[in-house]
Amino acid sequence: MKKLIVANLKMNFTKEEMIDYIKGIKNQISNNFEVVICPSFVYLSMFQNFDYKIGAQDVFYFVQGSYTGEVSPIQLKSLGVSHIIVGHSERRKYFKEDDLLIGKKIKAILKQNIKPIFCVGETLTERQLKKTTNILKNQLLIALKDISKEEIKDIIIAYEPVWAIGSGITPTANQIKEVILYIKKVIMNKYNLEIKVLYGGSVNKENIKSIINLEEVAGLLIGSSSLDPNYFISMLDLIV
Ligand code: PEP
Repeated sequence: MKKLIVANLKMNFTKEEMIDYIKGIKNQISNNFEVVICPSFVYLSMFQNFDYKIGAQDVFYFVQGSYTGEVSPIQLKSLGVSHIIVGHSERRKYFKEDDLLIGKKIKAILKQNIKPIFCVGETLTERQLKKTTNILKNQLLIALKDISKEEIKDIIIAYEPVWAIGSGITPTANQIKEVILYIKKVIMNKYNLEIKVLYGGSVNKENIKSIINLEEVAGLLIGSSSLDPNYFISMLDLIV
């Protein structure tokens, strides 16, 4: 099974910079990986006839209507989006998204046959207070409360410790393994099946090998290290 590499470009690049970025990564990433590039909504239509899959960084849960400023799963589908990141810690922190809202988004994404990349993770304080497993269990079970066994098969979970995102600090390989096994156990207990779990948070050239080599890690969600095409490509070359 190919490992999944998801680039979260966040709110970066002007249109001209995006054109350069697309040129920079075109045909450069090994097809040993399944690659999903997630630019801002406004640039998605620039990725037609692209060599990799495209993803969105968020979505609203209604199909259409009077929701000024929002973007729906069906609109994203019409642009060729195959994956949507949902529940990212930046959405939780800056836009006060909670587990119930995230659950509604996941449901709406699945209805359009798009794969949700559902992010979960604990803060540093929560880890220090040894609450990591409790926090993750709540995040998972609340957001997935209306998700059926049929639907869960299409969901990809991303374990993203909040304290690792953009900080340059990563958990040890053992800590990652421990948490991912826990997430898989929660899903196994509820649905009796295995789910793909990605790791995300400060992946870089120094740590990528030790993380991707973990059998439990189905792939990576990469922020900062995906922004410079040369860095991104040479980092992925290390693990081909
Ligand atoms: C992210 O925000 O999903 C992420 C993984 O960011 P970074 O790689 O910059 O920590």
